[in-house]
Amino acid sequence: MSTLVFGHKNPDTDSVCAAIALADLKKKLGEDIAPAMQGALNPESTFVLEKFGVAAPEIVTSFAGKDVYLVDHSDLSQSPDDLGEANILGIVDHHKLGDVTTGQPLECWIWPVGCTCTVVASMYKYFGIEIPKDIAGIMLCAILSDTVIFKSATCTDSDKKVCAELSKICGESDLDALGIEMFKVKSAVDGTPIRELVFRDYKDFNMSGKGVGCGQLELVDLSIVDGIKADLEKDIADLKAEKGHHTVLLMLTDIMKEGTELLVASDDEAAIETAFGVKPVNGKAWLPGIMSRKKQIIPFLEKILS
Ligand code: MN
Ligand code: MN
Repeated sequence: MSTLVFGHKNPDTDSVCAAIALADLKKKLGEDIAPAMQGALNPESTFVLEKFGVAAPEIVTSFAGKDVYLVDHSDLSQSPDDLGEANILGIVDHHKLGDVTTGQPLECWIWPVGCTCTVVASMYKYFGIEIPKDIAGIMLCAILSDTVIFKSATCTDSDKKVCAELSKICGESDLDALGIEMFKVKSAVDGTPIRELVFRDYKDFNMSGKGVGCGQLELVDLSIVDGIKADLEKDIADLKAEKGHHTVLLMLTDIMKEGTELLVASDDEAAIETAFGVKPVNGKAWLPGIMSRKKQIIPFLEKILS
């Protein structure tokens, strides 16, 4: 039985590509291992894997009795429901340490950088294994995606340095053009059901017993969602009721204007105002300079709601 490596629920490009790359590295280090993902590929990840001719990991949702590595998360809320029955060999991540715990010592690579693939690329170097061209391409795209083409507050010099090395290996020299090509795919909303858009990049959090959901759509232009904004607002209110959450937010992030229109469904709108210094009007607030859920939204909400 082979070990499986997988990222968080609602997999994004980093979760998928980091799983593929870590499985490749570990295989070359002698482990019997395969990448997996907890759900279907999103349009951006589909584009990235097709562009570099890399096969999609298998979708797996149950891991009881298996040896596993986690990438791109260490929160139980983003893990498979039966993770407690799996044997966690290691975690490779770039988020704050979550509530996943283990019964055995584990291999742990959690760095404060912009993307899990920055850590995985560094692991190749550490172990002296050459990065294949196709894997370099998908890791490069994952870093451009997670760091919003180096514009996100989460982006570090290590991310930029690793991208420069990966771009040499895979032969993609115009990183801005590659990034924008990818974000155009990510921005497409036509024909996609509203709930699917809310869930495209969505995470649940437990903040001192209060359920908080936060989705994000990264758009090359905010006007792309003009025609569906009212539907999105209604849907996050419905979702809040269905989950019994305290708050559900949807970040509509304009990656060119570098700001976020926050759609708010909350029991306590005043808390949102306190957290971000902008009063929501009709459930909406424009937050200039805010692009990162992890660094600029979640910690501030956590502080107010705790
Ligand atoms: Mn992710
Ligand atoms: Mn990530």
